[in-house]
Amino acid sequence: MLLRRITEHVKAQNWFAVALDFVIVVLGVFVATQVANWNGARIERELERAYLVRLHEEVSIMVTEQESERVETVARAQRLDEVAAYFEAFGTQDAASLEPVGEHCSAVISSHIFAGDITLPPTISELISTGRILTVSNQELRMRIVRLAQAIDEYGQLRHDIQVDRLVLSRKYPDIIRLSPVDRDQSVCDFPAMAQSQAFRNDFLDNMPRFKAYAAGVIQGQQDLRQDLHDALDVELEITHVDKAP
Ligand SMILES: [Zn+2]
Repeated sequence: MLLRRITEHVKAQNWFAVALDFVIVVLGVFVATQVANWNGARIERELERAYLVRLHEEVSIMVTEQESERVETVARAQRLDEVAAYFEAFGTQDAASLEPVGEHCSAVISSHIFAGDITLPPTISELISTGRILTVSNQELRMRIVRLAQAIDEYGQLRHDIQVDRLVLSRKYPDIIRLSPVDRDQSVCDFPAMAQSQAFRNDFLDNMPRFKAYAAGVIQGQQDLRQDLHDALDVELEITHVDKAP
């Protein structure tokens, strides 16, 4: 239609009309391209938001679910420190105030267990494997997401390293550790005998830093990064939680 009209105008040598037709064609193409661009950008923004909402959901659940594991693991690492302090003080007056209890025994016999979750929220795996991480327009937020993914890899490697040749103390020292058949917390440790056995103390001091690295790095570190990401997602999505401290 437009082409026929242009041809007629050329035949009639009506150059003003030809120029006008040309402008109409160019404008038409420009507007169509702009509309397609706006549409594409809108779809991308909606996709980004959908990903972030899903990620927020996953991270919130993980932070809540992993909190008891974090608290317990950090507490166990602390108990190991206290046992080490008792061993150092053994034979002195200070030892009495550092006398270990059941929780300490439980920490000692679990000092080779590094079984907590090292998990990446599924949405992060999807964002990275599909390259859609680039749809996250906030660069700071994108960095936090990638950082968590990298950290999960590093924590997996760290756990692998500290698990190599770890010692099951209860197996090596059955005379001074009696495991409970019912509950680990009801196991019995002969702490004075442990303190007097340099072999036991050496093995204990081999396990202890591994467990502390696991508690501070793998468990606490993961939870900190999840919490940081959760906070950043709250800001990005303008979410406020009534039960969260300001
Ligand atoms: Zn939130």
